[in-house]
Amino acid sequence: MAIKADLEGTSRLLSTADDVVRESLAVASDRTDGGKGIDREQVHCERLAYAATELAAARDLLDYANGPGAADPAVPAMAAAFAGEFGLKLGGQVSAHAVEFGIDDARFAATLGSPDFLGVARAAVADEAISAIGRHVIEQRGVNHSPIDDEMAVMTRDSVRQFADSEIAPIAEHIHRNDDLVSDEQIEKMAQLGFFGMAVPEEYGGGGMGNLAMIVTTEELSRCSLAAAGSLITRPEILTKALLKGGTEEQKQQWLPPIAAGEVMAAISVTEPDIGSDVASVRCKAEPAEVGGEQGYVIDGAKAWCTFAGRANVIALLARTDPDLAKGARGLSLFIVPKDTFAGHSFEMRQESGGLLEGKADATPGYRGMHSFTLAFDNYFVSAANLVGREKGLNKGFYLQMNGFAAGRLQTGGRATGLAQAGLERTAEYAADRKQFGQPIGNFQLTQHKVGRMATHIMASRQLTYRAAAAMDADESIALEPAMAKLFSSDVAVWTTQEGQLVHGGWGYAEEFAISRYVVDATVLPIFEGVKPILELKVIARNLLAR
Ligand SMILES: Cc1cc2nc3c(=O)[nH]c(=O)nc-3n(C[C@H](O)[C@H](O)[C@H](O)COP(=O)(O)OP(=O)(O)OC[C@H]3O[C@@H](n4cnc5c(N)ncnc54)[C@H](O)[C@@H]3O)c2cc1C
Repeated sequence: MAIKADLEGTSRLLSTADDVVRESLAVASDRTDGGKGIDREQVHCERLAYAATELAAARDLLDYANGPGAADPAVPAMAAAFAGEFGLKLGGQVSAHAVEFGIDDARFAATLGSPDFLGVARAAVADEAISAIGRHVIEQRGVNHSPIDDEMAVMTRDSVRQFADSEIAPIAEHIHRNDDLVSDEQIEKMAQLGFFGMAVPEEYGGGGMGNLAMIVTTEELSRCSLAAAGSLITRPEILTKALLKGGTEEQKQQWLPPIAAGEVMAAISVTEPDIGSDVASVRCKAEPAEVGGEQGYVIDGAKAWCTFAGRANVIALLARTDPDLAKGARGLSLFIVPKDTFAGHSFEMRQESGGLLEGKADATPGYRGMHSFTLAFDNYFVSAANLVGREKGLNKGFYLQMNGFAAGRLQTGGRATGLAQAGLERTAEYAADRKQFGQPIGNFQLTQHKVGRMATHIMASRQLTYRAAAAMDADESIALEPAMAKLFSSDVAVWTTQEGQLVHGGWGYAEEFAISRYVVDATVLPIFEGVKPILELKVIARNLLAR
């Protein structure tokens, strides 16, 4: 039975919110000189970046509700509820920071404070409207059958779900609790299904399936395990995009086919112990050298948080090739550094020439199965042939890496949505099965309301991410949409898994209930690939405020 929703009113509401956000962006753009002075107004720019992101999510969810989503009885109500919640929140923020937003009282009264706006928003977020969504989701046990207007994506979802349920779900908990490494057997199975070559064009041995299929795949794998499946695709994806953007033809021929086949597994190394968000200040250096008659570079320095560095066959390494630190981002190059594979939590890789690479994994509460290493490069030789782009790539590594990161962020939108979906399913099942006070806890209005909000936000994060995938299919160079998808979906995963944990009560804190794993896995999402404040300020706000 369809749950009532006023989609015309929702459309008016979002168009009003859109006007206000646009006007506020124009004001902020003026005040920050087209974004150059964001640091003078970081707090407000962060607020605006988030509002614009939520607005985009609300629009994408509404479009979906008016399109294929109309076939799902809960989706129109979700679109209305999400837009209503966003609109009222925006109203509160504009009211509190009217000067910064540049919206005076009269303009506020005519827009976010108007009777029509408030009427639509209040009806959409009425307790009963959201609880009805929750009841429906609990009845369906949270399962995601959301209609997709793309036959290939639907087939991909079905087949990957089947694979993940039978191959990943049974081992996910064991890997997490024992901090095991993802097994070679699992990597081989995923390779056979073409999961590592989704972004690789067919001419280089990949599937060339486009970003939507990649996102749907990632979502389904992450639904069973963020670390032991969904995240395995991220690194090949980032390296593939960097190679496609800046690699020579010879390098593409050499590296892309084995990446697509899962024969070359990659790690990405940008972060250093003392350099994180300020990527342009990377210090690990690569100096020209000739070793055994071969031209190349020797690498010296420390790196941090290099995920999968032990098992990986290559490390995509961002290193300083121009010693002048003042050159910043214009002095960095991207290398493909070959190494042996190691299974444990530490390794030592010695070269005949005397080069040494040592790695030690840092223990983490979640995101296990991948292992993130602190690395020490000492006189480690890498051939000149492995400088991405060869001579043309010298000191261009920052831009190639950022292009790769945009792809990684889009993928993380899928990872976060899949993880959040897993939390929703466990929570809906638990709410249906757990009895207190003589009835299932899912019968209580507050549980239904919580599940309704969780499901609504997850659907918004899914649609924002799918839209970003389509945008990236159309233009590989975009940065804004993938960043928004990553920002919002990561927050949704953190919040919904914690909300789901509460619905599980004490059992939500027990390791034997998967929700406790989801909670610790989710908290890493807003940290990597650009920690949340940096993503908001340096990518989203900068893009939105640029003239
Ligand atoms: C499990 C895990 C896996 C990872 N995997 C990888 C990987 O595979 N490869 C890799 O290269 N990296 C990886 N990372 C590193 C990750 O990308 C960084 O942690 C992240 O970019 C943030 O850098 P940082 O930790 O040095 O934080 P910092 O840059 O020190 O930032 C800390 C905080 O300082 C504040 N801050 C910093 N600068 C500003 C500013 N300009 N304005 C306002 N506030 C600011 C923000 O609040 C920010 O959250 C991983 C991290 C983790 C935890």
